[in-house]
Amino acid sequence: MLRIDELSFWEKSSYFENIDFLIIGSGIVGMSTALFLKVKYPKAKIVIIERGYLPTGASSKNAGFTCFGSPTELYDDLQHISEHQVWETFSDRYNGLKSLFELVEPESIQYDACKSWDLIASNAKNDINPNFIKYINEKALEITKVKEIYREDSAAVSNFGFQHIKTAYCNSLEGGINTGLLVKSLYQKVIEADVQVIFGIEALSMENSNNNVEIFTNRGIIKSEHCIIATNGFASQWIDEDIQPARAQVLVTNPIPNLKVRGTFHYEKGYYYFRNIGDRILLGGGRNIDIKGENTANFGTTGAIQNRLKSLLRETILPNEEFNIDYTWSGIMGVGATKSPILRMLNKNTAIGVRLGGMGVALGSQVGKKLSSYF
Ligand SMILES: Cc1cc2nc3c(=O)[nH]c(=O)nc-3n(C[C@H](O)[C@H](O)[C@H](O)COP(=O)(O)OP(=O)(O)OC[C@H]3O[C@@H](n4cnc5c(N)ncnc54)[C@H](O)[C@@H]3O)c2cc1C
Repeated sequence: MLRIDELSFWEKSSYFENIDFLIIGSGIVGMSTALFLKVKYPKAKIVIIERGYLPTGASSKNAGFTCFGSPTELYDDLQHISEHQVWETFSDRYNGLKSLFELVEPESIQYDACKSWDLIASNAKNDINPNFIKYINEKALEITKVKEIYREDSAAVSNFGFQHIKTAYCNSLEGGINTGLLVKSLYQKVIEADVQVIFGIEALSMENSNNNVEIFTNRGIIKSEHCIIATNGFASQWIDEDIQPARAQVLVTNPIPNLKVRGTFHYEKGYYYFRNIGDRILLGGGRNIDIKGENTANFGTTGAIQNRLKSLLRETILPNEEFNIDYTWSGIMGVGATKSPILRMLNKNTAIGVRLGGMGVALGSQVGKKLSSYF
């Protein structure tokens, strides 16, 4: 493979010289940042480098939930995160979805405001009571201006045909998108905006001077006036802060005739999540049964977690159905002790926007918008 210093005049001048903004990572954050920067600086030369042949982290591998907070997740967070921070995160996710729709039309990514349901297992303690629902509705109203987002919906259990579930809480504002179309749409927008995306280049280290940044890559050195790090779960090489890779595994069933399950669902405080994709079920989660093993930047699926997902399908989600598993995969998230992203300037020329946790679909474009505002 040719190194950058072996390229032609044409190639160097088109792709690698006089770069105003070099973005590392072509996930939702990297591509959104490029688009918001182009609005602000239409003439800027912006280049995204991506080490995979596709985006290879979380953005093209996620479940596609546009989620702001389910009752059990909010309850759990309020036990160990400050109230202010919990609602700030809710607000960032809610407004993040609006930022996303500034970049892509909802129809183009098959956005479906299909609602979500937070399921309480029959054998689980239910911490959610009417007073808590009243409290979260009041707080959510301040942010969304929409009344009564949350309500108990115990009929959902039989409507969707679940077993071993005692009740459900509906969030009328959550929904889902087609993850593949989101990444493709952002890519198309980025290309239309004359941003170069170069796949197969991995950033290894960087040196900052007063006027520019030198990025050392597996193909040679790239110079840019500014740099933005958008590598999420793979960011620990750039900062000495609380960020770890966290693998998440997913499966998708075959199409199920007369599937009753329609919508997006959270189970066991969000450790599991599932939705329908047409007549198939996508189910992910189970990190909690092997937190240590799943704190890895290596892709792959494991028997323990895939078997747990299959038994959840068999016993709870599709109790009376025959099904096969047509797809399995994993993605890598970036997590830390808090749910807020790491979002700031590292020095005069370089910004970072990482640690999106399990909520980058709604939050990613908001992070991109904030990153673009730093320059
Ligand atoms: C299985 C799964 C399900 C999820 N479900 C949901 C959901 O339903 N709803 C939701 O809101 N969120 C969900 N998430 C989280 C969401 O996908 C992420 O928060 C979001 O995609 C993060 O986007 P990003 O651009 O920050 O990171 P990424 O998409 O991970 O992009 C980072 C990119 O940087 C590249 N890169 C890394 N290091 C380098 C380097 N040194 N040089 C060059 N390139 C590099 C990687 O290859 C990658 O493409 C899920 C995540 C997973 C894994």
